[in-house]
Amino acid sequence: MIVKGFDSTSPTENLIAGSIAAKRFPHAVLIEGDSAERRLMLAEKIAAALICGNADAVPCGECRHCAKALRRTHPDIIYREPDSGTASPVYKVDSIRDTVDDSYILPNEADIKIYILSDADKMNIQSQNAFLKTLEEPPAHSMFILLCSSKEGFLPTILSRVTLFSLGEEVRAQPGEDAINAANAVALSLLDPVEYGIVAAAGVFEKNQKLLLETLPVIEEIFAAALRIKFDAGEETAPESARVLAGKLSRKALLNLIESTERISLALGRNANLNLTIVRLCTCFRSAVKEQE
Ligand SMILES: [Zn+2]
Repeated sequence: MIVKGFDSTSPTENLIAGSIAAKRFPHAVLIEGDSAERRLMLAEKIAAALICGNADAVPCGECRHCAKALRRTHPDIIYREPDSGTASPVYKVDSIRDTVDDSYILPNEADIKIYILSDADKMNIQSQNAFLKTLEEPPAHSMFILLCSSKEGFLPTILSRVTLFSLGEEVRAQPGEDAINAANAVALSLLDPVEYGIVAAAGVFEKNQKLLLETLPVIEEIFAAALRIKFDAGEETAPESARVLAGKLSRKALLNLIESTERISLALGRNANLNLTIVRLCTCFRSAVKEQE
């Protein structure tokens, strides 16, 4: 199964996407760190992927579950926040008990119910204790995604019952020098008048799927930067290759190239044959450029 929409440069998101793909996503997780917006966005991506009805790629974005998840109207994706009304809102023990009771009721439309608790660290000790048993052994049809800026406020007993995902101190994968060089070479080869230019530039990927996987996002970024230059969205940090492409290629050609790159990345993620993928890259890129002539 393919899991889409997760940030592949984030080790934590990769880990999460991998466990969803393997159908081993834990029933109770705590996501800490980064901003409240990113945590909520990530929780919603997870919920959509878990609740989507598609068997091949999730979230498909098209089924009725995805449509409702996107509109935040899915009855089985349940958002919870601390009780307001006081100067510092907390999850009162009664509202945690309500959530716990509700989790034992079967889902409405999907196979599972997913509870997303924002600011989950705003639970006092009584509320945390009321949650313990259910977090340890949630009903088979229920999942809990707890969000907070830091795990510090939780009892050790809670922390030992949830799987922790930290967004705070992630080391993002940066493309290596080989990938950057290969990306620039492929991009510039598109302006080569002879067909052979790109074939030669793409030769470095033979027997090196890892390099191709690492290079495709860099190539896409060059095309995207060239497109932004075309739209006069002042790109002072754009690589030289993007400036050159922007001067020679049409917006339509650049859009085609971005689309082709995404399709090729997706195919490679599905373990497509490497040699065929390289050939496809050469022909797709050449025809994207030729279309404008
Ligand atoms: Zn779907």
